[in-house]
Amino acid sequence: MKIKMNSKDVNFWYGEKKALNDINLPIYENKITALIGPSGCGKSTFLRCLNRMNDLISGVKITGEITLDEKNIYDKDVDVVELRKRVGMVFQKPNPFPMSIYDNIAYGPRIHGIKEKKQLDEIVEWALKKSALWDDVKDDLKKSALKLSGGQQQRLCIARTIAVKPDVILMDEPCSALDPISTLKIEDLMVELKKEYTIVIVTHNMQQASRVSDYTGFFMLGDLVEFNKTDKLFVEPENKKTEDYISGRFG
Ligand code: ADP
Ligand code: MG
Repeated sequence: MKIKMNSKDVNFWYGEKKALNDINLPIYENKITALIGPSGCGKSTFLRCLNRMNDLISGVKITGEITLDEKNIYDKDVDVVELRKRVGMVFQKPNPFPMSIYDNIAYGPRIHGIKEKKQLDEIVEWALKKSALWDDVKDDLKKSALKLSGGQQQRLCIARTIAVKPDVILMDEPCSALDPISTLKIEDLMVELKKEYTIVIVTHNMQQASRVSDYTGFFMLGDLVEFNKTDKLFVEPENKKTEDYISGRFG
């Protein structure tokens, strides 16, 4: 099993405040890795380290190494735009651009130089099919994306992310603004997408982590308390703190 991304001794600070302590966590290719833990434990911070989204915040500092296919993404010669194309991100609240469904998906490919209409048409159709949205919207691609339901908007955001053909998809609580049926649709979609992509999902929903993920990392106060196969972590956790958390004793 290939390690697609790897985090080695990662420490992270917001100014004086330390948010991550010596995180060592492998991300396996074509698997879903879930990050769980109480609010404020550093899940989103860690996720954002994986495509350097934290670079956009001033006063932050990171030490250690995060590799993608064995290359440190914090090396000076790394093109961050290219990195974020390879490691895409889906956010908590669906955030389609205020434009048509078609243009939302064509946006990334256009930025990356694809101009020909036929080629864009193909990418739009492919991405919408992959994200299980094509049947809902195929007759209405010119409609504003903002007119879609919340669940459809989130699937559109996933389609937009895969349209630039990333290797890794990061999702930060992608279902927390959605109803249960839309949530299950997104979960099914993740399981489908892992055949071709490597997925990392932050969730505070432990049922969701146990339903969809192959590996789980449990964070607390900036520490990675336990990383294990999901089946193992939820059934026979190795750490007492993990056991307390998953049995609902805190958090
Ligand atoms: P989680 O996603 O697990 O809820 P976060 O990664 O968002 O946790 O936050 C980890 C810690 O870092 C928290 O104490 C939070 O208050 C702090 N933090 C998060 N974002 C910022 C920021 N932009 N500036 C300063 N502190 C932050
Ligand atoms: Mg968070």
